[in-house]
This record gives sequence, C-alpha cells and structure tokens, in this order.
Amino acid sequence: MDNSQSTSKTLHDERDRYLDSGKSFIDDEAIERLLKAHSGPETAHVRDIIAKSLSLARLDPAETAALLHVTDDALWGEMFAAAAEVKNRVYGPRIVTFAPLYCSNLCVNSCLYCGFRREDKEMVRRVLSEEEIRRETEALVANGHKRLVLAFGEHPSTGVDYMARAVRTVYDVKVDKGEIRRANLNAAPQTIAGMKTLGEVGIGTYQVFQETYHHDTYARVHPRGPKSDYNWRLYALHRAQEAGVDDVAIGALFGLYDWRFEVLGLLYHAIDLEKRFNGVGPHTISFPRLQPAASAPLTNEDNPYRVNDDDFKKLITVIRLSVPYTGMIVTAREPAHIRRAAMNLGCTQTDASSRIGLASYSDQAYEQQENRQQFHLGDTRGLDEVTREFAEMGFLTSFCTAGYRCGRTGECFMNMAKSGKVHEFCIPNAIFTMKEYLIDYASAETQASGDNLIMQKVDGLPDKMREKVRAKLKDIEKGQRDIRF
Ligand code: SAM
Ligand code: SF4
Repeated sequence: MDNSQSTSKTLHDERDRYLDSGKSFIDDEAIERLLKAHSGPETAHVRDIIAKSLSLARLDPAETAALLHVTDDALWGEMFAAAAEVKNRVYGPRIVTFAPLYCSNLCVNSCLYCGFRREDKEMVRRVLSEEEIRRETEALVANGHKRLVLAFGEHPSTGVDYMARAVRTVYDVKVDKGEIRRANLNAAPQTIAGMKTLGEVGIGTYQVFQETYHHDTYARVHPRGPKSDYNWRLYALHRAQEAGVDDVAIGALFGLYDWRFEVLGLLYHAIDLEKRFNGVGPHTISFPRLQPAASAPLTNEDNPYRVNDDDFKKLITVIRLSVPYTGMIVTAREPAHIRRAAMNLGCTQTDASSRIGLASYSDQAYEQQENRQQFHLGDTRGLDEVTREFAEMGFLTSFCTAGYRCGRTGECFMNMAKSGKVHEFCIPNAIFTMKEYLIDYASAETQASGDNLIMQKVDGLPDKMREKVRAKLKDIEKGQRDIRF
C-alpha cells in the first residue's frame, strides 16, 4: 500500500468506525415518522414532559417530537417559562460572553449559504499572519474579552498546524491585566491525530455544526469539496472525544430544512455522543439562523425553510427543555431584540462586539463590508453596552474560565451540570469576573448597573458563601485579579 492509499484507508476507517451495521444515528425516515406520530399531543402529556425537563432529565426523541407540535399559545407560555426555569436551575442567572476571531477565509468548499464559498471571486481572501492574529487579540483583550472562538475556512494552507499556531499566538497575548483564557475553535472536521495536536495546545471547545441533518438537503447545499461527505462531518466530534478533546459543540444552521427535523437531529446527535462517551454530550448547542451573505445563492433565493421569529423562539425553547444541562449559544447574527428573548428562554452564552471580517478588530476603518465577511451580523453592539443591558435584565455577564482550568470539563462538567451544582461554583466566579470587568474596562454607566446587580446577587447568596464573596470582592477592588471561589 502506498502513502495515499494508507491515508485514504485511515480516513475511511475514522469516518465509518462509529456506524452501526453501516448506519449512522440519523435515520431521516424514522425522524419524519416520529414527527408525524406525535402531532397533536394532549395537554396533560405535554405537562408531564415539561415536568420531566424541570427535573433536569434529558428528553427522549418522542417527547421532543410532541413538544415540537404544541399549537396552543397558553401551553407555549408554560414551556417558555419552564425553559427559563431549567436554565436558572442548572446555570443560574449568568451569561457567558465571547467574541469570534476569524483567522482565515480561504475555503475549498462550496456551501450554498456561505460568503466564503470558493466560487465567490469578489471576496477579499486572507490568511492572518501570527502578527495579525496577535494584533486582533490585543484589540479584543483591550476591550475586556477573556474568551474567543477562532473561526477558519477549510483549506490545506490553514490546516491543523496553522490552527495550533493561531491558538498559541492568542494565548501568548497579554495586555496590562488582561489575557485570553479560553480559545474555542469553529473549524472543519479533523482526523483523530489532528484533534490530538489541537488538544495539546489547549483549545477550549471544538465546534462543528452539521448545518442540516437531512441527507438530501445536505447533499444539495454542499455540492463539492470535503464538506460534501455527510458522515465525515457527523462523526467529527466523536473523533474529537476519542482524541481527548472532551468539550465539543454541535449546531444546525436553521433555514436549510424543516426546523422541527433539525431539532430532532441535534437531539439524536447529543444522545449518540452521550451513549458512546460516558454520558458526555455536547458542551453547547448552536442554532444559527441563515443570514444574507454576498454571492451565496441560497440566502438570496425564496426560501421555504426560512425560520420566522416566533418559530425561532419555539425551537430555542424545545432545545432548552430537551437537553437541560447543555449550554446554548445565540450569536450576534440575531438582532438585539431576539437575543434578549433568547436569553429569557434559557440561552447561556452569546458574543459581543463581534466583527467577522478578517482583521477587522485592529483595522479601525472597519464597517460591515460585503466582500470581507461570511454573512451579515444583526447586532454589532459593543461588550460594554451588551453587559449593561444584561445587568438591567438581571443577568451577570460571566468572563469565568475557572471551571475549565480546574479540569471541570467533559464528564466532570456534565456530572456537575446534571446534578444542578454548576452554579454553586459558577455564580461566585461570575460575580468576580464581572467585577473585574467593571473596574478594568466598563463605562461609568455600565459600572453603576453592574455593581447594582452584583450587590443584589451577593445579598441573595446562601449565608455560608456571602461573607467569603464579599471579602474577595474587596480584594478585587484593591487590585487583585483572576480570583476564584
Ligand atoms: N468552515 C468551517 C465549517 O464550515 O465548519 C467554519 C464555518 S463558520 C466559522 C461557522 C458557521 O457559520 C457554519 O458552520 C455555519 O453554520 C454558519 N454560517 C455559514 N453561513 C452562514 C449564513 N449565511 N448565515 C448564518 N450562518 C452561517
Ligand atoms: Fe467554507 Fe465553512 Fe463557509 Fe462552507 S461554511 S464555504 S466550509 S467557510
């Protein structure tokens, strides 16, 4: 066997090794049947399912299918309230923030919805150098960010080695008291060996969105390039787990196919990860909604699967109720009012001050330019304004990464999340990191709103924690940083 034959054998083996009698965990016909079988659920049955979610148990696909078919507005009202309550029980009143950092937009794929697709000749193509990544990171750190998601197109010149260098460069940046403490990645599926390399440089969560779980749609919207291989992508996060990267994140791009089908696809994906990796499902679920993108045919044509705002809120709610302990990310693709609604329906993470054009944090001349970015953003407000808004809504903005650095990842995190204990550590740590942010980076107005919220939250802590938290807040006021509970 020559080298190329042996590489191809490894790739096939890594793609097919998780199949069950040649089949993946996504059976389109079975999902369609399930959706039909559970239309028109009884109110009492829906209430039983809501109660199961409130006990923080994951739902079964049949239960999720029933929730997806509720038609009564009052019952949806109960589900919205339960979604908020589930989030509160698992995570408490906090929102984790991050910013995306686009490192490269070279791409060999042809995804019909994306501005970076290879056919787009107008797109300004760039691969950021280490120096440029450093400058981008400095700008983000100076803004107060502690977490990033690094994003990449798929191209041989920006493979695993480039990504690993990008992560190292990000972690090396220090600006006064600030640094990036967690670099997550959103990139193409890798081999197990590639994931080990990324694990060695200390990546945070590895995100690969399946985009659509519906096979025919997948084939239609990914006509060429490595991304056209459905199963290679479907098992990307199984390979990541096998390589020891145990924080993995799934997602679907809503607007490619029926949203109810995609919610079930996400659930089956979570279940298969749990089944194979000691109960460790996805760390987060993302549900980007299709946005307009330059030269992307799918976003410009009449699209029957476009998800309206009401259905978007419903799908967020059903995901929250189906996997109570999983983080949920709503991004700046959405306008401010939808992001606010999503926060009240149980989302746990969002980005702020986002720029998705290459080198657009350090380039002051930036505005949303069609030929520099993947799609259009709906909300480009800065971190300061977003933090203030969340404080006024009663949410702590958390910059905390203590859990990961203490090893509370993967199985350990899942066990804590499932027992509802995450917030025992995370609320005080959210308070400390928010306080640090308020002192070091926030405007006077945001400081006032934030301090007010922190005072309320500290007053509400159990007796045994309150005094300890107050003492540490004093240390932060005196200049100490990176304090943990
Ligand atoms: N090239 C990598 C890949 O395909 O996995 C990274 C892609 S990009 C950084 C992250 C996600 O953006 C994609 O997985 C897709 O879900 C989403 N996306 C692409 N085009 C979009 C559009 N027009 N509107 C909204 N989201 C989009
Ligand atoms: Fe390339 Fe990813 Fe865009 Fe597809 S979604 S064209 S793979 S950057």
